[in-house]
Amino acid sequence: MTELYEVITPSASIGTLKGVGKKTEEKLNSIGIHTVNDVVFHLPNSYVDQNPTDVNSVKLEEVITVSGVVKTEPTVTYLRKGLNRMSFHMETNNVYIKVTFFNQAYLKKQIEVGDTINVHGKFNKPKQEMSGRSIIKPNGDTMDMRYALNKVMNNKTFGNIVKEVFRTHIFNQDLPEYLIKKYKLMPIKQTLYHLHFPDNMDELQNARRTMKFYELFMFQVKIIEKRKQERVPQKESIIKYDIDKLKRFIGTLPFELTKDQKTSVNDICRDLLSEFNMHRLLQGDVGSGKTIVAGISVYALKTALKQSAIMVPTEVLANQHYESLVESFNDELTIELLTGTTTPSEKRRIKEALKNGDIDLIIGTHALFEDDVVFKDLGLVIIDEQHRFGVNQREKLIKKAKSRNVLYMTATPIPRTLSITAFGDMDVSLIKTMPAGRLPIKTFWKKEKEIDEVLAFIKKEMDAGRNIYVVAPLIEESEVLDLMTTEEVYHMFRETFGEDKVELVHGRMKPEEKRKAMARFESLETPILVSTTVIEVGINVKNATVMTIFNAERFGLSTLHQLRGRVGRNDLQSYCILISEGKTEQAQMRMNIMTETTDGFVLSERDLEMRGPGDFFGVRQSGLPEFKVADLVHDYRILEVARSEAIKLFKEQ
Ligand code: ADP
Ligand code: MG
Repeated sequence: MTELYEVITPSASIGTLKGVGKKTEEKLNSIGIHTVNDVVFHLPNSYVDQNPTDVNSVKLEEVITVSGVVKTEPTVTYLRKGLNRMSFHMETNNVYIKVTFFNQAYLKKQIEVGDTINVHGKFNKPKQEMSGRSIIKPNGDTMDMRYALNKVMNNKTFGNIVKEVFRTHIFNQDLPEYLIKKYKLMPIKQTLYHLHFPDNMDELQNARRTMKFYELFMFQVKIIEKRKQERVPQKESIIKYDIDKLKRFIGTLPFELTKDQKTSVNDICRDLLSEFNMHRLLQGDVGSGKTIVAGISVYALKTALKQSAIMVPTEVLANQHYESLVESFNDELTIELLTGTTTPSEKRRIKEALKNGDIDLIIGTHALFEDDVVFKDLGLVIIDEQHRFGVNQREKLIKKAKSRNVLYMTATPIPRTLSITAFGDMDVSLIKTMPAGRLPIKTFWKKEKEIDEVLAFIKKEMDAGRNIYVVAPLIEESEVLDLMTTEEVYHMFRETFGEDKVELVHGRMKPEEKRKAMARFESLETPILVSTTVIEVGINVKNATVMTIFNAERFGLSTLHQLRGRVGRNDLQSYCILISEGKTEQAQMRMNIMTETTDGFVLSERDLEMRGPGDFFGVRQSGLPEFKVADLVHDYRILEVARSEAIKLFKEQ
């Protein structure tokens, strides 16, 4: 399989091109262009459409080219040092418009009353004004392209090098012929040519369509090929768990599994029995019951006398999983926690027990990678929030297992487009249904001036015997001006509800103090918990019905959703109250999305739209490729088609 961006093979260095001497070669190398393939895939990042547009057809504002006759002498005004403005009037399509250029006074010489000229710029329809960018002298080409060249050469020079490649090279990699026909695409050589030198917008759009398909299809093909290579049958991969014991165990759970939980458990069991490694992603919303599914898998391993490990990126998450799993499975599984803060003597004891096979499940952070963490027989590795680990880190743990059975979990749903590109090589189990009896959480957006109403509501819930969470983000002193600090929030709550009703938990507290505070909260001795950060509420208090978040605009959508997931954990009606002034458009959008939906899958799609794929995971090394033309937010349909065609291609082989 060739690389995604290789259509000319073998790919010669640019020095072999006519007209590219040593100097030019060095210049191009400095911007990452080394081979002829690099040249053809260095696409323009914008195009200037020189075809004149009728200003009457412009909606509000558009970047266009207009053609018309100059009506008034250009005048230049010097506004201040380094800033001048030149303006004149022209008539185009029977409309009289004003054209303004900033800091291009030299253009004055090129403009005379009575001349017919083409001006490219942003046209403001209501004002009938054009903010000019350039004056275009018709030169035969109707589209003018702009490359990112970091000033090493001009657009025209680079364009000539591109043309040279097209003239002298054979493009010997392409999309399969039948796909080009089926989807009315173009051969790749023609596509790339039109992307560099389109005659008009239509041609450009067509070429972009093919290019998107090409990128997404080839990428999927690569993923499937890689997967095929890795899928070698191995005896060690087979885990012969005891189905009867497992069934009996599931029967002892205090609830019935949801339909999706059952399907996920079945998927996992099938993987265990298979001679291929498990390579599965378990996706589900907060509170949908992923942890239980993970626990059942661990139990299955235990019936085959094998151990499991859960690796998580933070200490807090490790504690959370530990507590939740101990609560549900303490009688059946021996579970231990190994993190950076585990004391040396504890560590020694745990490592010894792991080696002897006395531990069924170890939950831990990076501490698990260490060489002296040795298992008797590790059969399943569960990785939570895998995108937060590097490939090498994951590998360090996985290689401690004789079989490479790996189950990945995500804390929040990932939009499908990202999931099939970043994790396209995995099998996926989805938990979409929530446990029965859960009422959707009601979410409200309130401003600070409505605080009395919020407090009255909280009082009502408190009097009904419920737990209340209050979260305020950490705020730097320099920003305090018009934001509520955690201290202020804490005092306000103590004044309103009484000193003995409110607990404050923050990051600098000793673990022991924190635990005591949490216990008082859970037992309803102090029904209200104010905490500085998200971290402290990573717990499961089923009696909690209100999540109050101050300065809510300071959290991202997925964090807000995670926080909200702390309530609504039984059949009581729960509420999430977001307090935010909503000063920015971004903040308003977030608050509105939160009040409109409680579906984590919908929310993650909206989050992706707002943030774009690069920022979605918050980390760069998410395994997401950077496509040249395809866009994972908007090209969802093309991606689906490309993926199904890629899968079909392999099925038929
Ligand atoms: P997740 O890990 O997906 O956030 P958890 O596994 O922590 O969700 O489950 C959230 C809560 O729901 C836990 O208190 C758990 O005991 C409970 N729960 C899980 N599955 C079910 C079910 N099928 N019916 C009722 N309650 C469930
Ligand atoms: Mg959980």
